[in-house]
Amino acid sequence: MSRVTILGCGWSGLVASIRVKESHPSSEVVCIDRDFGGGLLRSEVVSGYLFDVGGSHVVFSRRHDVIDGILSIGGEWGARERRAYVLLDGTFIPYPFENGIYVLPPEKRAKNGKSIISALVNYRDERPRNLKEWILNTFDHEVAEDYLIPCNEKIWKRPLDQISADWVYIPGRLPIPSIDDIIDAVAGIPIVGYREQALFYYPRRDGIIRQWEAAYRRAEALGVVFLKDTVREVRRVSGEYVVNGRVRADKVINTLPLKEVPLIFNLPDDVFKAADRLDYNSVVVVGLGLKRPAPNQHWIYVPDKHFIFHRYAWISNYGEDTPKNKSSLVAEVTFPANSIPDLDHAKHDVVDGLIRLGVINNYELDVVNAWYHRYGYPIYTLTHTQDTSIIKNALSEIGVITLGRWGEWQCWNTDKIYERINELELGRNSHNPMR
Ligand SMILES: Cc1cc2nc3c(=O)[nH]c(=O)nc-3n(C[C@H](O)[C@H](O)[C@H](O)COP(=O)(O)OP(=O)(O)OC[C@H]3O[C@@H](n4cnc5c(N)ncnc54)[C@H](O)[C@@H]3O)c2cc1C
Repeated sequence: MSRVTILGCGWSGLVASIRVKESHPSSEVVCIDRDFGGGLLRSEVVSGYLFDVGGSHVVFSRRHDVIDGILSIGGEWGARERRAYVLLDGTFIPYPFENGIYVLPPEKRAKNGKSIISALVNYRDERPRNLKEWILNTFDHEVAEDYLIPCNEKIWKRPLDQISADWVYIPGRLPIPSIDDIIDAVAGIPIVGYREQALFYYPRRDGIIRQWEAAYRRAEALGVVFLKDTVREVRRVSGEYVVNGRVRADKVINTLPLKEVPLIFNLPDDVFKAADRLDYNSVVVVGLGLKRPAPNQHWIYVPDKHFIFHRYAWISNYGEDTPKNKSSLVAEVTFPANSIPDLDHAKHDVVDGLIRLGVINNYELDVVNAWYHRYGYPIYTLTHTQDTSIIKNALSEIGVITLGRWGEWQCWNTDKIYERINELELGRNSHNPMR
Protein backbone atom coordinates (compact mmCIF):
# COMPACT_ATOMS: atom_id res chain seq x y z
CA MET A 1 0.00 0.00 0.00
CA SER A 2 1.32 3.41 -0.96
CA ARG A 3 1.30 6.37 1.39
CA VAL A 4 0.57 9.78 -0.17
CA THR A 5 0.84 12.99 1.83
CA ILE A 6 -0.75 16.19 0.56
CA LEU A 7 0.52 19.46 1.93
CA GLY A 8 -2.26 22.04 2.35
CA CYS A 9 -5.95 21.29 2.45
CA GLY A 10 -7.52 24.21 0.62
CA TRP A 11 -9.48 23.50 -2.57
CA SER A 12 -6.36 22.23 -4.38
CA GLY A 13 -5.33 19.78 -1.66
CA LEU A 14 -8.87 18.43 -1.38
CA VAL A 15 -9.38 17.92 -5.12
CA ALA A 16 -5.97 16.24 -5.34
CA SER A 17 -6.73 13.94 -2.40
CA ILE A 18 -10.10 12.95 -3.93
CA ARG A 19 -8.46 12.15 -7.27
CA VAL A 20 -5.67 10.05 -5.72
CA LYS A 21 -8.13 8.12 -3.55
CA GLU A 22 -10.51 7.53 -6.47
CA SER A 23 -7.67 6.19 -8.63
CA HIS A 24 -6.07 4.15 -5.85
CA PRO A 25 -8.61 3.28 -3.16
CA SER A 26 -6.05 1.19 -1.29
CA SER A 27 -3.55 4.03 -0.89
CA GLU A 28 -3.23 5.84 2.43
CA VAL A 29 -3.82 9.53 1.78
CA VAL A 30 -3.06 12.09 4.48
CA CYS A 31 -3.89 15.76 3.98
CA ILE A 32 -2.08 18.18 6.30
CA ASP A 33 -3.31 21.70 6.98
CA ARG A 34 -2.66 24.20 9.72
CA ASP A 35 -6.32 25.08 10.27
CA PHE A 36 -8.72 23.30 7.87
CA GLY A 37 -10.60 26.58 7.56
CA GLY A 38 -11.21 26.36 3.79
CA GLY A 39 -8.23 28.46 2.65
CA LEU A 40 -9.56 31.30 0.49
CA LEU A 41 -12.97 29.58 0.33
CA ARG A 42 -13.90 30.69 3.84
CA SER A 43 -17.18 32.10 5.09
CA GLU A 44 -18.01 33.61 8.46
CA VAL A 45 -21.16 34.91 10.10
CA VAL A 46 -20.75 38.21 11.99
CA SER A 47 -23.76 39.44 13.99
CA GLY A 48 -26.10 37.53 11.69
CA TYR A 49 -24.48 38.64 8.42
CA LEU A 50 -22.79 36.04 6.20
CA PHE A 51 -19.47 36.98 4.57
CA ASP A 52 -17.14 35.14 2.19
CA VAL A 53 -14.04 36.39 3.90
CA GLY A 54 -11.62 35.46 1.09
CA GLY A 55 -13.48 37.83 -1.26
CA SER A 56 -16.33 37.40 -3.71
CA HIS A 57 -16.25 33.80 -4.96
CA VAL A 58 -18.52 32.09 -7.48
CA VAL A 59 -18.05 29.02 -9.67
CA PHE A 60 -18.00 29.58 -13.41
CA SER A 61 -16.29 28.07 -16.43
CA ARG A 62 -16.80 27.92 -20.13
CA ARG A 63 -16.49 24.13 -19.81
CA HIS A 64 -19.68 22.34 -18.84
CA ASP A 65 -17.79 19.19 -17.84
CA VAL A 66 -15.79 21.23 -15.31
CA ILE A 67 -18.93 22.81 -13.82
CA ASP A 68 -20.64 19.40 -13.69
CA GLY A 69 -17.53 17.87 -12.11
CA ILE A 70 -17.28 20.51 -9.37
CA LEU A 71 -21.01 20.43 -8.60
CA SER A 72 -21.06 16.63 -8.52
CA ILE A 73 -18.48 16.57 -5.71
CA GLY A 74 -21.39 17.41 -3.43
CA GLY A 75 -23.43 20.13 -1.80
CA GLU A 76 -26.53 22.02 -2.85
CA TRP A 77 -26.01 24.60 -5.55
CA GLY A 78 -28.01 27.34 -7.19
CA ALA A 79 -27.42 28.88 -10.63
CA ARG A 80 -27.60 32.63 -11.19
CA GLU A 81 -27.36 34.88 -14.18
CA ARG A 82 -24.41 37.18 -13.65
CA ARG A 83 -25.24 40.84 -13.01
CA ALA A 84 -21.77 42.35 -12.92
CA TYR A 85 -20.84 45.91 -13.81
CA VAL A 86 -18.00 48.36 -14.27
CA LEU A 87 -18.80 51.60 -12.43
CA LEU A 88 -17.42 54.45 -14.53
CA ASP A 89 -18.29 58.13 -14.08
CA GLY A 90 -21.42 57.19 -12.16
CA THR A 91 -22.73 54.72 -14.77
CA PHE A 92 -23.06 50.98 -14.15
CA ILE A 93 -21.79 49.47 -17.41
CA PRO A 94 -22.70 45.77 -17.70
CA TYR A 95 -19.63 43.52 -17.58
CA PRO A 96 -17.79 42.74 -19.83
CA PHE A 97 -17.22 46.41 -20.62
CA GLU A 98 -16.72 45.94 -24.37
CA ASN A 99 -20.24 44.49 -24.61
CA GLY A 100 -21.82 46.66 -21.95
CA ILE A 101 -21.10 50.00 -23.65
CA TYR A 102 -24.63 49.84 -25.10
CA VAL A 103 -25.84 51.60 -21.91
CA LEU A 104 -23.70 54.70 -22.54
CA PRO A 105 -24.86 57.84 -24.35
CA PRO A 106 -24.24 57.75 -28.17
CA GLU A 107 -21.02 59.78 -28.17
CA LYS A 108 -19.41 57.58 -25.49
CA ARG A 109 -20.58 54.40 -27.27
CA ALA A 110 -18.97 55.68 -30.44
CA LYS A 111 -15.73 56.65 -28.67
CA ASN A 112 -15.33 53.26 -26.98
CA GLY A 113 -16.60 51.34 -30.00
CA LYS A 114 -14.02 53.02 -32.24
CA SER A 115 -11.30 52.09 -29.76
CA ILE A 116 -12.23 48.39 -29.75
CA ILE A 117 -12.87 48.18 -33.51
CA SER A 118 -9.60 49.97 -34.28
CA ALA A 119 -7.78 47.43 -32.10
CA LEU A 120 -9.53 44.55 -33.90
CA VAL A 121 -8.77 45.94 -37.36
CA ASN A 122 -5.11 46.65 -36.58
CA TYR A 123 -4.57 43.50 -34.56
CA ARG A 124 -1.39 41.56 -35.29
CA ASP A 125 -0.97 38.24 -33.57
CA GLU A 126 2.39 39.10 -32.00
CA ARG A 127 3.47 38.19 -28.52
CA PRO A 128 3.09 41.36 -26.39
CA ARG A 129 6.07 42.28 -24.21
CA ASN A 130 3.93 43.01 -21.17
CA LEU A 131 0.36 43.38 -19.90
CA LYS A 132 0.10 47.06 -20.85
CA GLU A 133 1.05 46.27 -24.45
CA TRP A 134 -1.48 43.43 -24.57
CA ILE A 135 -4.28 45.70 -23.29
CA LEU A 136 -3.43 48.44 -25.81
CA ASN A 137 -3.17 45.92 -28.68
CA THR A 138 -6.47 44.33 -27.78
CA PHE A 139 -8.63 47.34 -26.81
CA ASP A 140 -6.74 50.45 -28.00
CA HIS A 141 -6.32 53.69 -26.06
CA GLU A 142 -9.80 54.82 -24.99
CA VAL A 143 -10.97 51.58 -23.36
CA ALA A 144 -7.47 50.88 -22.05
CA GLU A 145 -7.03 54.27 -20.40
CA ASP A 146 -10.58 54.68 -19.06
CA TYR A 147 -11.01 51.22 -17.66
CA LEU A 148 -8.52 48.38 -18.12
CA ILE A 149 -5.28 50.10 -17.20
CA PRO A 150 -6.58 51.85 -14.03
CA CYS A 151 -8.48 48.74 -12.90
CA ASN A 152 -5.46 46.47 -13.39
CA GLU A 153 -3.08 48.96 -11.78
CA LYS A 154 -5.33 48.93 -8.74
CA ILE A 155 -5.25 45.13 -8.49
CA TRP A 156 -1.55 44.64 -9.30
CA LYS A 157 -0.21 47.76 -7.54
CA ARG A 158 2.53 48.38 -10.08
CA PRO A 159 2.97 49.71 -13.63
CA LEU A 160 1.51 47.24 -16.10
CA ASP A 161 4.65 47.23 -18.25
CA GLN A 162 6.24 45.34 -15.34
CA ILE A 163 3.72 42.52 -15.63
CA SER A 164 4.10 39.67 -18.07
CA ALA A 165 1.33 39.06 -20.62
CA ASP A 166 2.02 35.31 -20.83
CA TRP A 167 -1.13 34.51 -18.84
CA VAL A 168 -3.55 36.55 -20.96
CA TYR A 169 -2.00 36.18 -24.39
CA ILE A 170 -2.69 32.89 -26.12
CA PRO A 171 -1.23 32.83 -29.65
CA GLY A 172 -3.91 32.64 -32.32
CA ARG A 173 -6.77 33.39 -29.95
CA LEU A 174 -8.03 36.90 -29.48
CA PRO A 175 -10.16 36.80 -26.34
CA ILE A 176 -12.58 39.59 -27.24
CA PRO A 177 -16.10 39.36 -28.65
CA SER A 178 -17.06 39.33 -32.30
CA ILE A 179 -17.18 42.54 -34.29
CA ASP A 180 -20.95 41.92 -34.71
CA ASP A 181 -21.38 42.18 -30.94
CA ILE A 182 -19.38 45.41 -30.81
CA ILE A 183 -21.43 46.95 -33.61
CA ASP A 184 -24.66 46.04 -31.78
CA ALA A 185 -23.29 47.56 -28.57
CA VAL A 186 -22.28 50.77 -30.37
CA ALA A 187 -25.78 50.96 -31.85
CA GLY A 188 -27.18 50.71 -28.29
CA ILE A 189 -28.54 47.15 -28.63
CA PRO A 190 -28.21 45.15 -25.37
CA ILE A 191 -25.93 42.10 -25.70
CA VAL A 192 -24.64 39.66 -23.11
CA GLY A 193 -21.13 38.74 -24.34
CA TYR A 194 -19.05 35.71 -23.28
CA ARG A 195 -22.34 33.88 -22.83
CA GLU A 196 -20.63 30.82 -21.33
CA GLN A 197 -19.55 32.94 -18.36
CA ALA A 198 -22.87 34.71 -17.91
CA LEU A 199 -24.13 31.99 -15.57
CA PHE A 200 -22.50 31.22 -12.26
CA TYR A 201 -23.04 28.68 -9.50
CA TYR A 202 -23.01 29.23 -5.77
CA PRO A 203 -23.98 27.15 -2.72
CA ARG A 204 -27.65 27.62 -1.82
CA ARG A 205 -26.86 28.29 1.85
CA ASP A 206 -24.02 29.30 4.19
CA GLY A 207 -21.66 30.82 1.65
CA ILE A 208 -18.70 29.62 -0.39
CA ILE A 209 -17.30 27.54 2.49
CA ARG A 210 -19.87 24.94 1.38
CA GLN A 211 -17.85 24.38 -1.82
CA TRP A 212 -14.84 23.48 0.31
CA GLU A 213 -16.92 21.51 2.82
CA ALA A 214 -18.50 19.39 0.08
CA ALA A 215 -15.02 18.40 -1.13
CA TYR A 216 -13.89 17.77 2.46
CA ARG A 217 -16.86 15.42 3.08
CA ARG A 218 -16.20 13.61 -0.19
CA ALA A 219 -12.52 13.13 0.67
CA GLU A 220 -13.45 11.98 4.17
CA ALA A 221 -15.95 9.46 2.78
CA LEU A 222 -13.23 8.09 0.50
CA GLY A 223 -11.01 7.56 3.53
CA VAL A 224 -8.62 10.52 3.34
CA VAL A 225 -7.05 11.21 6.74
CA PHE A 226 -6.81 14.83 7.92
CA LEU A 227 -3.96 15.99 10.10
CA LYS A 228 -3.86 19.43 11.69
CA ASP A 229 -0.32 20.78 11.67
CA THR A 230 1.81 23.53 10.16
CA VAL A 231 4.14 22.03 7.58
CA ARG A 232 7.66 23.17 8.44
CA GLU A 233 9.95 20.66 6.80
CA VAL A 234 9.95 17.69 4.48
CA ARG A 235 13.07 15.52 4.38
CA ARG A 236 14.03 12.47 2.33
CA VAL A 237 15.19 9.68 4.59
CA SER A 238 16.05 6.20 3.29
CA GLY A 239 13.85 6.50 0.21
CA GLU A 240 10.80 7.93 1.97
CA TYR A 241 9.60 11.42 2.82
CA VAL A 242 9.28 12.54 6.41
CA VAL A 243 7.07 15.54 7.12
CA ASN A 244 7.78 17.52 10.31
CA GLY A 245 9.84 14.58 11.55
CA ARG A 246 6.78 12.36 12.05
CA VAL A 247 4.57 11.70 9.00
CA ARG A 248 6.12 9.18 6.61
CA ALA A 249 5.11 8.99 2.94
CA ASP A 250 6.08 7.39 -0.36
CA LYS A 251 4.79 10.39 -2.30
CA VAL A 252 4.25 14.05 -1.53
CA ILE A 253 1.91 16.45 -3.33
CA ASN A 254 2.45 20.10 -2.51
CA THR A 255 -0.16 22.87 -2.63
CA LEU A 256 1.70 25.29 -0.34
CA PRO A 257 3.10 28.54 -1.78
CA LEU A 258 6.06 27.95 -4.13
CA LYS A 259 7.74 30.87 -2.41
CA GLU A 260 7.99 28.84 0.78
CA VAL A 261 8.95 25.43 -0.59
CA PRO A 262 12.75 25.91 -0.86
CA LEU A 263 12.95 26.19 2.92
CA ILE A 264 10.48 23.37 3.56
CA PHE A 265 12.23 20.96 1.16
CA ASN A 266 15.77 22.27 1.73
CA LEU A 267 16.33 22.99 -1.98
CA PRO A 268 19.53 24.39 -3.59
CA ASP A 269 20.51 28.09 -3.56
CA ASP A 270 19.38 28.92 -7.10
CA VAL A 271 15.88 27.72 -6.14
CA PHE A 272 15.84 30.07 -3.13
CA LYS A 273 16.81 32.91 -5.47
CA ALA A 274 13.99 32.07 -7.90
CA ALA A 275 11.53 31.90 -4.98
CA ASP A 276 12.75 35.29 -3.74
CA ARG A 277 11.90 36.77 -7.12
CA LEU A 278 8.30 35.46 -7.02
CA ASP A 279 5.98 38.29 -6.11
CA TYR A 280 2.40 38.49 -4.86
CA ASN A 281 -0.19 40.85 -3.47
CA SER A 282 -2.02 40.41 -0.21
CA VAL A 283 -5.72 41.08 -0.10
CA VAL A 284 -7.90 42.68 2.55
CA VAL A 285 -11.58 41.87 2.33
CA VAL A 286 -13.86 44.38 4.06
CA GLY A 287 -17.35 43.07 4.83
CA LEU A 288 -20.37 45.32 5.47
CA GLY A 289 -23.68 44.20 6.93
CA LEU A 290 -26.56 46.50 5.97
CA LYS A 291 -30.09 46.86 7.33
CA ARG A 292 -31.71 47.04 3.91
CA PRO A 293 -32.06 44.87 0.81
CA ALA A 294 -29.30 44.66 -1.80
CA PRO A 295 -29.82 46.16 -5.27
CA ASN A 296 -30.24 43.72 -8.14
CA GLN A 297 -26.49 43.37 -8.71
CA HIS A 298 -23.69 40.88 -8.02
CA TRP A 299 -20.19 42.39 -8.34
CA ILE A 300 -18.99 45.79 -9.49
CA TYR A 301 -15.50 46.81 -10.68
CA VAL A 302 -14.40 50.31 -9.70
CA PRO A 303 -11.45 51.54 -11.81
CA ASP A 304 -11.46 55.07 -10.29
CA LYS A 305 -8.25 55.59 -8.28
CA HIS A 306 -10.06 57.73 -5.70
CA PHE A 307 -11.48 54.56 -4.15
CA ILE A 308 -9.15 51.99 -2.56
CA PHE A 309 -11.13 48.90 -3.58
CA HIS A 310 -11.05 47.55 -7.14
CA ARG A 311 -14.28 45.63 -6.69
CA TYR A 312 -17.24 45.34 -4.35
CA ALA A 313 -19.85 42.59 -4.35
CA TRP A 314 -23.38 42.11 -3.00
CA ILE A 315 -22.71 38.56 -1.88
CA SER A 316 -26.08 38.31 -0.14
CA ASN A 317 -27.53 38.06 -3.67
CA TYR A 318 -25.48 34.92 -4.43
CA GLY A 319 -27.15 32.42 -2.09
CA GLU A 320 -30.72 31.95 -0.93
CA ASP A 321 -30.45 32.47 2.82
CA THR A 322 -30.27 36.23 3.45
CA PRO A 323 -33.42 37.79 4.94
CA LYS A 324 -35.05 40.19 2.44
CA ASN A 325 -34.50 43.27 4.64
CA LYS A 326 -30.73 42.70 5.07
CA SER A 327 -27.68 42.53 2.83
CA SER A 328 -23.96 41.69 2.94
CA LEU A 329 -21.37 43.36 0.78
CA VAL A 330 -17.63 42.68 0.50
CA ALA A 331 -14.99 44.99 -1.00
CA GLU A 332 -11.53 43.79 -2.04
CA VAL A 333 -8.36 45.83 -1.57
CA THR A 334 -4.90 44.60 -2.58
CA PHE A 335 -1.63 45.46 -0.86
CA PRO A 336 1.91 44.77 -2.05
CA ALA A 337 3.72 41.82 -0.44
CA ASN A 338 5.39 42.57 2.89
CA SER A 339 3.21 45.59 3.62
CA ILE A 340 1.23 45.30 6.84
CA PRO A 341 -2.22 46.71 6.07
CA ASP A 342 -3.96 48.70 8.76
CA LEU A 343 -7.37 47.01 8.90
CA ASP A 344 -9.08 49.95 10.63
CA HIS A 345 -7.90 52.28 7.87
CA ALA A 346 -9.07 49.81 5.25
CA LYS A 347 -12.52 49.59 6.87
CA HIS A 348 -12.76 53.37 7.11
CA ASP A 349 -11.65 53.94 3.50
CA VAL A 350 -14.02 51.31 2.11
CA VAL A 351 -17.03 52.70 4.01
CA ASP A 352 -16.11 56.27 3.07
CA GLY A 353 -15.65 55.26 -0.59
CA LEU A 354 -18.97 53.43 -0.78
CA ILE A 355 -20.75 56.41 0.78
CA ARG A 356 -19.09 58.80 -1.71
CA LEU A 357 -20.17 56.52 -4.56
CA GLY A 358 -23.72 56.63 -3.25
CA VAL A 359 -23.76 52.84 -2.80
CA ILE A 360 -24.52 52.91 0.95
CA ASN A 361 -25.34 55.43 3.66
CA ASN A 362 -24.29 55.53 7.30
CA TYR A 363 -27.76 54.88 8.74
CA GLU A 364 -28.15 51.46 7.20
CA LEU A 365 -24.67 50.26 8.17
CA ASP A 366 -24.92 47.61 10.89
CA VAL A 367 -21.60 45.71 10.80
CA VAL A 368 -18.11 46.34 9.40
CA ASN A 369 -15.33 43.78 9.54
CA ALA A 370 -12.06 43.13 7.71
CA TRP A 371 -10.00 40.04 6.95
CA TYR A 372 -6.39 39.97 5.80
CA HIS A 373 -4.95 37.25 3.56
CA ARG A 374 -1.23 37.32 3.08
CA TYR A 375 -1.46 35.39 -0.18
CA GLY A 376 -4.14 36.93 -2.39
CA TYR A 377 -2.86 37.31 -5.95
CA PRO A 378 0.29 35.72 -7.44
CA ILE A 379 1.91 38.30 -9.71
CA TYR A 380 3.02 37.60 -13.25
CA THR A 381 6.38 39.32 -12.99
CA LEU A 382 8.44 39.43 -16.19
CA THR A 383 10.49 36.44 -14.91
CA HIS A 384 7.47 34.49 -13.61
CA THR A 385 7.64 31.64 -16.15
CA GLN A 386 11.35 31.10 -15.67
CA ASP A 387 11.24 31.35 -11.85
CA THR A 388 8.28 29.01 -11.40
CA SER A 389 9.96 26.50 -13.75
CA ILE A 390 13.15 26.50 -11.66
CA ILE A 391 11.21 25.71 -8.49
CA LYS A 392 8.89 23.16 -10.10
CA ASN A 393 11.85 21.37 -11.73
CA ALA A 394 13.68 21.21 -8.40
CA LEU A 395 10.60 19.66 -6.79
CA SER A 396 10.13 17.29 -9.69
CA GLU A 397 13.75 16.11 -9.30
CA ILE A 398 12.97 14.95 -5.77
CA GLY A 399 9.70 13.37 -6.97
CA VAL A 400 7.30 15.99 -5.58
CA ILE A 401 4.25 17.15 -7.56
CA THR A 402 3.16 20.73 -6.96
CA LEU A 403 -0.37 21.99 -7.66
CA GLY A 404 -2.85 24.80 -7.22
CA ARG A 405 -2.99 28.59 -7.12
CA TRP A 406 0.06 28.85 -4.85
CA GLY A 407 1.68 25.51 -5.63
CA GLU A 408 1.92 26.58 -9.29
CA TRP A 409 1.90 30.34 -8.58
CA GLN A 410 -0.85 31.02 -11.09
CA CYS A 411 -3.83 33.30 -10.70
CA TRP A 412 -6.18 30.34 -11.05
CA ASN A 413 -9.75 30.01 -9.92
CA THR A 414 -11.22 26.82 -8.51
CA ASP A 415 -12.47 25.69 -11.94
CA LYS A 416 -9.00 25.95 -13.47
CA ILE A 417 -7.47 24.08 -10.53
CA TYR A 418 -10.05 21.33 -10.89
CA GLU A 419 -9.36 21.16 -14.64
CA ARG A 420 -5.60 21.09 -14.10
CA ILE A 421 -5.71 18.31 -11.50
CA ASN A 422 -7.85 16.22 -13.87
CA GLU A 423 -5.40 16.86 -16.72
CA LEU A 424 -2.53 15.59 -14.58
CA GLU A 425 -4.44 12.36 -14.03
CA LEU A 426 -2.84 11.90 -10.65
CA GLY A 427 -2.17 8.25 -10.27
CA ARG A 428 -2.50 7.32 -13.94
CA ASN A 429 0.62 8.59 -15.76
CA SER A 430 4.19 9.68 -15.18
CA HIS A 431 3.03 11.65 -12.16
CA ASN A 432 1.80 8.39 -10.70
CA PRO A 433 1.90 8.93 -6.97
CA MET A 434 1.94 5.19 -6.53
CA ARG A 435 5.27 4.62 -8.19
C1 LIG B 1 -10.23 38.00 -4.01
C2 LIG B 1 -10.32 36.64 -4.66
C3 LIG B 1 -11.45 36.30 -5.39
C4 LIG B 1 -11.54 35.05 -6.01
N1 LIG B 1 -12.67 34.74 -6.71
C5 LIG B 1 -12.82 33.51 -7.22
C6 LIG B 1 -14.03 33.14 -7.89
O1 LIG B 1 -14.95 33.94 -8.07
N2 LIG B 1 -14.15 31.85 -8.33
C7 LIG B 1 -13.17 30.93 -8.15
O2 LIG B 1 -13.35 29.78 -8.56
N3 LIG B 1 -12.00 31.25 -7.55
C8 LIG B 1 -11.80 32.51 -7.08
N4 LIG B 1 -10.63 32.85 -6.45
C9 LIG B 1 -9.53 31.87 -6.42
C10 LIG B 1 -9.73 30.78 -5.34
O3 LIG B 1 -9.79 31.38 -4.07
C11 LIG B 1 -8.52 29.86 -5.40
O4 LIG B 1 -8.36 29.33 -6.70
C12 LIG B 1 -8.58 28.65 -4.45
O5 LIG B 1 -9.22 28.95 -3.24
C13 LIG B 1 -7.15 28.21 -4.20
O6 LIG B 1 -7.10 27.06 -3.41
P1 LIG B 1 -5.69 26.54 -2.89
O7 LIG B 1 -5.95 25.31 -2.14
O8 LIG B 1 -4.74 26.46 -4.03
O9 LIG B 1 -5.12 27.70 -1.95
P2 LIG B 1 -5.69 28.26 -0.50
O10 LIG B 1 -7.16 28.38 -0.59
O11 LIG B 1 -4.87 29.46 -0.28
O12 LIG B 1 -5.35 27.08 0.47
C14 LIG B 1 -4.05 26.86 0.95
C15 LIG B 1 -4.17 25.98 2.20
O13 LIG B 1 -2.84 25.68 2.65
C16 LIG B 1 -2.80 25.83 4.05
N5 LIG B 1 -1.41 26.15 4.43
C17 LIG B 1 -0.64 27.15 3.95
N6 LIG B 1 0.60 27.08 4.46
C18 LIG B 1 0.61 25.99 5.29
C19 LIG B 1 1.61 25.35 6.07
N7 LIG B 1 2.88 25.79 6.11
N8 LIG B 1 1.27 24.24 6.76
C20 LIG B 1 0.00 23.74 6.71
N9 LIG B 1 -0.97 24.30 5.96
C21 LIG B 1 -0.67 25.40 5.25
C22 LIG B 1 -3.79 26.92 4.37
O14 LIG B 1 -4.26 26.81 5.71
C23 LIG B 1 -4.89 26.66 3.33
O15 LIG B 1 -5.89 25.81 3.84
C24 LIG B 1 -10.48 34.12 -5.87
C25 LIG B 1 -9.35 34.47 -5.13
C26 LIG B 1 -9.26 35.71 -4.52
C27 LIG B 1 -8.03 36.08 -3.75
